[in-house]
Amino acid sequence: MVKILNSLDIKGWETVIGLEVHAELATKTKMFSSALNSFGGEPNSNTDPVSLGLPGSLPVLNEKAVELAIRVGLALNCQVQKSVFARKNYFYPDMPKAYQISQFDLPINKEGWLELPDGRRIGIERAHLEEDTGKITHIGGGGRIHEASYSLIDYNRSGVPLIEIVGAPELRGPDDARDYVSELRSILVTIGASDGKMEEGSLRVDCNVSVRRDGTEELGTRCEIKNINSLRSLGRAIEYEAKRQIEIIESGQEIEQQTRHWDEAEGRTHKLRSKEEAFDYRYFPEPDLVPVEPSEEWIKEIANSLPPLPRDRRHLLAEAIGVEPTETSLIVERDLDTFALQAISSNADKNRVLVHLENNLADGIGKLTPEAFASLTVMETNGELTATQTKRVLADLVESGGDPQGIAKSHGFESMDNSELEEIVERIISENSDDWLSYINGDETERKKKSGFFVGLIMKETSGQADGKIVNQILSAKAEN
Ligand code: ADP
Ligand code: MG
Repeated sequence: MVKILNSLDIKGWETVIGLEVHAELATKTKMFSSALNSFGGEPNSNTDPVSLGLPGSLPVLNEKAVELAIRVGLALNCQVQKSVFARKNYFYPDMPKAYQISQFDLPINKEGWLELPDGRRIGIERAHLEEDTGKITHIGGGGRIHEASYSLIDYNRSGVPLIEIVGAPELRGPDDARDYVSELRSILVTIGASDGKMEEGSLRVDCNVSVRRDGTEELGTRCEIKNINSLRSLGRAIEYEAKRQIEIIESGQEIEQQTRHWDEAEGRTHKLRSKEEAFDYRYFPEPDLVPVEPSEEWIKEIANSLPPLPRDRRHLLAEAIGVEPTETSLIVERDLDTFALQAISSNADKNRVLVHLENNLADGIGKLTPEAFASLTVMETNGELTATQTKRVLADLVESGGDPQGIAKSHGFESMDNSELEEIVERIISENSDDWLSYINGDETERKKKSGFFVGLIMKETSGQADGKIVNQILSAKAEN
């Protein structure tokens, strides 16, 4: 048994990650029958002879599943090719016909890539079609089979169409892995291929991790981690696993290729089985289905129907604002980029658009319109509203809509005219002449201290209506004279 240190120095090591992502396709019915593909129903209500694997039942391929798989392939820059279904044989109660229909040597999509927000491209080895299995729930003993007193099986999920997207081992740490899954999810949702809900199991991630010494090229022996249910666990599992492997190698032992189970509560991985114990699936071509040969025209038609992808949207917005695409990825992820572009075309201040959408509109835009948002950013940059006042008006606009001028007025955020403000500044200066002298003659630290002092007094005097930035401008202008 290897003892895991809490904090292991991983300097000198590189973590290598390759992800296998299963996504349930958003079809109405199952992959090979007309039973409904729907989450959360009464257990075993969406079943039929095909999804129950009854003898004599035959699969009929769902055209929509093929179309969605091609959409995924095209969005991931893959080659779409003639594909063949294969039987993956194993015996387990979640798969009553004792084999899963999948694709093996001829997947529908091969060799693509996706781009992380920072511009790095990560290879996609393949994205193939397969059917989902039923769902087993072990009752008692914390939900693990060896401690359970009995198990329940729900075949509603059996036969739901899946796409398995196999990524290249080109990710280098927990952040990379999370970015990759976010981007992939965002693409799947954008093109309508999947709802991408990790919490409902529509998106499931198996994570392969290995480590190697810095500067070496050869890939280390990997372990595959199962049962990762959130982006947070993905990051934690990788961190744990990389440290475990480094510790084994540093102690002079070798990594055994294993499948491991992530335990969220314990925050660690457990061995499920080693490579030697891995199943032999005895793949062979599925005799009940013909190969899938999508025509060129159909593929083209599907390509033309794809909406703008997250990557294109990041670039478009970044260009409109004049920043790097990394800075617009959060807004695209929140699906607020169209709104941002509309506000910009209504002459909003671009940088305030970026700042507010990132920091102050994380819970959505509610009743805010692009036009109201645009005029608010202009009022803010004109100095009609202070930063605090702007936030307040913004919150009101989100809550109940309306016009920013009117809301500002109703709060008494009257725009303070600069000559009025100057008079107040002059009066405060004359009432505090000693402090003013130290402001003028002090070094940088002293001046900073005194400017804080004056801004504070002026804010008090104007009940917070003055703009701190403008007060500072007036102060330094007066000091020059
Ligand atoms: P398998 O058939 O056992 O699933 P694959 O060759 O299809 O094996 O690889 C599955 C996944 O493992 C891919 O996502 C790939 O990127 C990843 N992978 C392969 N080798 C390594 C490695 N040495 N370290 C990390 N990930 C790896
Ligand atoms: Mg695999």
